[in-house]
Amino acid sequence: MSRLCRVAGCCSPTSSRYSIYCSSHKARLRRHGAVDQKAITKGDLKPYLRLVQDRIQKNEASSLWTQLNARWSALAD
Ligand SMILES: [Zn+2]
Repeated sequence: MSRLCRVAGCCSPTSSRYSIYCSSHKARLRRHGAVDQKAITKGDLKPYLRLVQDRIQKNEASSLWTQLNARWSALAD
């Protein structure tokens, strides 16, 4: 006897007899930490990247960019 996924609106069978979620919701929970969380794509980030690039171009002489680059390098190391 197969059970149905516990997520509201999902009528798929559970991935195993011990699981409470279907295979797609189980994968979302594993990847993103929540069954209703979808992946963040490059298209989602594109408007924010444009805002940052515009801000950098507007204040190109600011000393903040060298500080941020140094902090990013320290974080990457
Ligand atoms: Zn499901």
